[in-house]
Formats: sequence, structure tokens, C-alpha cells
Amino acid sequence: MPAVKDAVNGAPRGRLPIVGAGYAGLAVAIELTRKGFEVEVVEVVPELTTQGLIFDYAKSLGIKFRFGKRVNEYFEETDRARVVIEGERIEADGVIAADGIHSAARKHVMGIHQHPRISGFAFTETDEDLFCVWLGADTHAILFILMDLRSAIIFCTHKDTYEVEESNTPEKLIDWKLLWRGPIRQWVSDTGNITLVGDAAHPHLPTSGQGAAQAIEDAATIAALLDKLRKEAIPAAFRAFEKLRYERTSLTQRMGWETRHRWHQTDWEAVAANPQFLKMPQPMWLYVHNPEKYAYERCDEAAESIEEGTSFVSTNVPEGHVHEDWTVETMMELEKQQAREAFYRVANK
Ligand SMILES: Cc1cc2nc3c(=O)[nH]c(=O)nc-3n(C[C@H](O)[C@H](O)[C@H](O)COP(=O)(O)OP(=O)(O)OC[C@H]3O[C@@H](n4cnc5c(N)ncnc54)[C@H](O)[C@@H]3O)c2cc1C
Repeated sequence: MPAVKDAVNGAPRGRLPIVGAGYAGLAVAIELTRKGFEVEVVEVVPELTTQGLIFDYAKSLGIKFRFGKRVNEYFEETDRARVVIEGERIEADGVIAADGIHSAARKHVMGIHQHPRISGFAFTETDEDLFCVWLGADTHAILFILMDLRSAIIFCTHKDTYEVEESNTPEKLIDWKLLWRGPIRQWVSDTGNITLVGDAAHPHLPTSGQGAAQAIEDAATIAALLDKLRKEAIPAAFRAFEKLRYERTSLTQRMGWETRHRWHQTDWEAVAANPQFLKMPQPMWLYVHNPEKYAYERCDEAAESIEEGTSFVSTNVPEGHVHEDWTVETMMELEKQQAREAFYRVANK
């Protein structure tokens, strides 16, 4: 990991508030701090319960947090952005909205309010002490055994019968509605000083196993771009971020659907012919990628393609992959029957 960069002339290189202290917000805060930017993380919950080591590391870097505070409004001018935290205005060079699947920042960025959709599946969780995976029609259950940890996680994704209200207490069974949103093309506001990251930009189904991983890749990317283009070019950096990340995350989002379909409407003949069919995809293009290096290397090309309106070929996707936009509706339509080979776009190699 490269060392923390010195701030230019002892002053921070730019001020960027971060909305949300989930994995995306924390990872962006860490990466920007390491590159000499001034960040402050605003988080509506009074304390974090599941972020563990990454939160400890952020605190060790001296990152400032404001807990129990909600960002209510976003404003921007050509060269500035502003957030309002319960009546208090914070001026900034740019704003990073890592506010999760329920993102209110999306409304500012896209100009329309989109509710996440109930997926028709829910998620049941409790604590236990084993490790197994069960598959059934429209259902899968996973039991994690992690001997060194004090608690284990068990979850069952099942078709939502809508008979149970969502509840969420540490002691009791939880019925947790899975929500989804399809990929969106616009992550950056029209003026360019506010960007979405993490689940706010690209929510993943748990069966992708990629939501937090892609949030961390976002952080490495955005920090490298701001490092290279500097605060004077925040809109260019944010738009290059969207350009470099959109096609890759559209595929990792799709991976969640593909795996869920393998597990819920299992083609047992395909499994008999090849038991690997049920494996969670672990393709090389996904795991060997270095998002920070990619951002430094392809920053200029991405910025130029945005400026000139010319095409840009992503190389952080499977070799030869030709991007195609997809929607939740198209996936639901394809899922009505047992999927054919063409459904699976995320090569397991
Ligand atoms: C069951 C399950 C299993 C998963 N397994 C994996 C896995 O194996 N691997 C993997 O990589 N990912 C996995 N994920 C996905 C991963 O957990 C998420 O993609 C990731 O946590 C998203 O991080 P985020 O920071 O973008 O959003 P969130 O974690 O949702 O964080 C958003 C934060 O913003 C705060 N916030 C929202 N609005 C405001 C506001 N107005 N003002 C201030 N704060 C605000 C929220 O309180 C929240 O803390 C799984 C998810 C689930 C549900």
C-alpha cells in the first residue's frame, strides 16, 4: 500500500464530505485521506456495528466522523458543492454520496426520484454454528462457520410471501426484504461536483458476493483519479470514474442475478454434466483487476473520450466482452423460464 501523500504546501488538496459510513464511504474516506484530501464522513446512524476493522483503520488515520446526522440537501454551482446537514451548510469542492441502496442523493444526481424495488425475495437471519449451502426451488440458504469469530451467520433467501413485516433486532429472527435496482448510467450530477459511489450507484444482490468489493474498487478508482486530475478538475475526475466503472459494475450486478438463477431454478441436468455449474463465479477478470492502477493508466483516455464524445473500450471486463445495457425488467422476463446458456454472461474462468 503506498504511503500517505503529503498535502500540497501543508494544506489539504481539496475538501470532500462523504455521505454515509458503509463500506463505500469508509473506503473512499481512507483512500482520499491517504492522498492528502480533507474528508469528513456524515452518517445518520448514531454508531457503526458491522464495519469492524475498516472503521478502526479509518479512525487511526484521524478521519473525522459525524454520527447521528443526516444529510438532507445537496446543492452545487459550477465549481462548488454544498450539503445541508440538519440545517447546517457545509461548503465543499465536491461531494461523494455513499448513502446506500436507499440513496437520496440519487434524486439530486438523476433529477428524478426512483424507489428501489422489492425483489420478491427476503432474507432470514439468525445466529448458529455450522457451515452448509442448501438449494431449493426459489430458495437458497447458507450457513457460515467461522470458528475464530464469536458468532456465525445463517441466512436463507426465499420467495417473499409478503406475510411478514420486515423486522431487524439483533436478538430475533429478521425478515429483511431484498431490494434491487438495475444499473443506472448516470452517477454524476449534471454540474459534475456530486457523485454516487457504492450501492448508491450500483446495488448488488447478495448472490453476487460483490457489493462491498465493488464499493472498495470504487474508492481506489476515485481517489486515483482525484490524485491525478486534482481538485480543479473534480467534474472531470467524477465523470472519468463513472466511465471507468460503469460497464464492470453492470456485469458484477448481473452476476448476482445469474448465480441466484443457478441456485433457485437449478438445471439439474447441467449440474449432472458439470457440478461446477453451481459454483459462485470466480472469474479471473474479476479477481486479478487492480482498480487503482487501471485508473492511473486509463484516466487520460477516459477523460478524452468524455470530452470528445468518442468511444472508450473497457478492459476491466472479460476479454472480448461487448457491453449491453440491461434492466431489472429484462432479467425478470428471462427468469420466467429456466435460463438458457445465453443468459449467463459472466464467464466462470
Ligand atoms: C446478505 C448480504 C450478504 C452480502 N454479502 C456480500 C459479500 O459476500 N461480498 C460483498 O462484497 N458484498 C456483500 N454484500 C453487499 C454489501 O454488504 C453491500 O454492497 C455494501 O455494504 C454496500 O456498501 P455501501 O457503503 O455502498 O452502502 P451501505 O452499507 O448501505 O451504507 C450506506 C450508509 O449511508 C448512511 N446514510 C444513508 N443516507 C444517509 C444520509 N442522508 N445522511 C447520512 N448518512 C446516510 C446509511 O446509514 C449507511 O450507513 C452483501 C449484502 C447482503 C445484504
